[in-house]
Amino acid sequence: MLQNKKKLAILGSTGSIGTQSLSIVKNRPDLFDVFLLSANSNYELIYKQAQEFKPKHIVVNTQKAYLFLKKNLDKNITISMGMTQLCEVVQLPEIDLVLSAIVGSAGLKPTISAILANKNIALANKESLVVAGELVMRLAKQKSVDFLPVDSEHSAIFQCLTGEKSKSVNRLILTASGGPFLNLPKKDFKKISIASALNHPNWKMGKKISIDSATLMNKGFELIEAYWFFGVPEKNIDIIIHPESIVHSLVEFVDGSIKAQMGVPDMTTPILYALGFPNRIKYPFKKLDLTDYNKLNFFKPDKARFPHLQLAYDCLALGGTSTCSLNAANEIAVNAFLNKKISFVKMFKLIEMSLEKSIFVSDPGLEDYINVDSETRKITSELISKI
Ligand code: NAD
Ligand code: MG
Repeated sequence: MLQNKKKLAILGSTGSIGTQSLSIVKNRPDLFDVFLLSANSNYELIYKQAQEFKPKHIVVNTQKAYLFLKKNLDKNITISMGMTQLCEVVQLPEIDLVLSAIVGSAGLKPTISAILANKNIALANKESLVVAGELVMRLAKQKSVDFLPVDSEHSAIFQCLTGEKSKSVNRLILTASGGPFLNLPKKDFKKISIASALNHPNWKMGKKISIDSATLMNKGFELIEAYWFFGVPEKNIDIIIHPESIVHSLVEFVDGSIKAQMGVPDMTTPILYALGFPNRIKYPFKKLDLTDYNKLNFFKPDKARFPHLQLAYDCLALGGTSTCSLNAANEIAVNAFLNKKISFVKMFKLIEMSLEKSIFVSDPGLEDYINVDSETRKITSELISKI
C-alpha cells in the first residue's frame, strides 16, 4: 500500500498551519509521506521536523538556516535555499499535493509554480488570492488542478457546495469571530497593546493573521478569497459576526435553504479535509457538543470601528492591482505595529494613505503584481519613516 500514500510538500512547515499539518501526518502515517519541507529561518524546528518526517528535500530562506541544516542533516536530504529554488523543487514529479502555508505575498510565487507543474494545492496562504486572485484561479482552472481551501470559512463553504450546482447558489455567508476587540469601545482603541492584539479569543495562529483578525483585515481578505475561490460576486457575499466560532460559514441556495458547516474552532478539521480530499479521513477529533452552548450569537459587523473591512470591499470593487496594494500596505503596517513603530489605530491610516499613493494596473500579469507589491511596500515604509 506504500505507493498509495500522498506525497506532500509543506510550505511554511514551521508555522501554525505547517506544524498542525505535520501532526496530522504523524497521526496518519499510513496516508501521507512528507517529500518537501520549506520554511523561512527557524532551523531548530525544521531540523527536528526533518529528523522525524524524513523529507527528501528541504528549502529554507536564510543562509544561516541553510548552512546549519547542510552541516547537521543526513546527506540523503537535499537542502537548498531561496525562492527560486523553492519554485523549482515544488515542481518535482514525486509531489502529489502542495500545502501552501507560507504567510504573506511570499507564498504567491511557489503557489503559482506548483500549479504550473499540475500539482494539487491545499491553500492556506490566502494572500495569494488577495494579491493575484484572477491569475491564480485562471491558472488553476487551465491546469485542472484540485484547488482546495484550508481557511476554515472557505473549507466550510466548499463542503456546503459539494454536490450542488453553481446556479443554485444565492449567497455565501462568511462568519467572523470579531477578534479580541469585538466589544471594545472605539475610544479605547488607541490604547491597544501588542499582547492584547495577539490574544485571539478562539484561535491560536501565527502573529500576522492574529493582528489581521484583530483589525478584521483578515475577514476583508477572506471576502476577497471567497470571491476568487467560488466565483460569487461580492454583493452576494455577506459577513456576519459569530463570536463562538462554531458555525464556520454558510451557503444560501436559490430555494431559501441554508447549509452550514460546524465544528469546534480547530484548524485540524479544514487541514484534514484538504489533505484527504476527495476522501474524509478518520481522525481523533474534538467533539462538538451543541448542548455546551446555551445560545449561538450572530450580528452585523461594525465597519465604523473596524474600517479595514470596508477597505477590502472598496479594493475588490476597484479590481486590478488594488487588492495587491492593500495586501502589501497591510503587511508593512502589521510588521510596523508588531515592531512597536506605530500604534494599532495608525495601521488603518497608513494603509489608506498607501493606497492613495500606490500605482494601479487595471489588467495585471504576474510581473505587474510583483512590481505593485514591491512599490507599495516602499511607499508604506516611507510613510512610516515620516510618522
Ligand atoms: P506563521 O507565521 O505561523 O507561519 C508562517 C510560515 O511561513 C513559517 O513556516 C515561516 O517560516 C514561513 N515563511 C514566512 N516567510 C517566508 C518566506 N519568505 N519564504 C519561505 N517561508 C516563509 O503563519 P500561519 O498562521 O501558519 O499562517 C500561514 C498562512 O495560513 C497565512 O497565509 C494565513 O493567513 C493562513 N491561515 C492561517 C490560519 C491559522 O490558524 N494559523 C488559519 C487560516 C489561514
Ligand atoms: Mg479564516
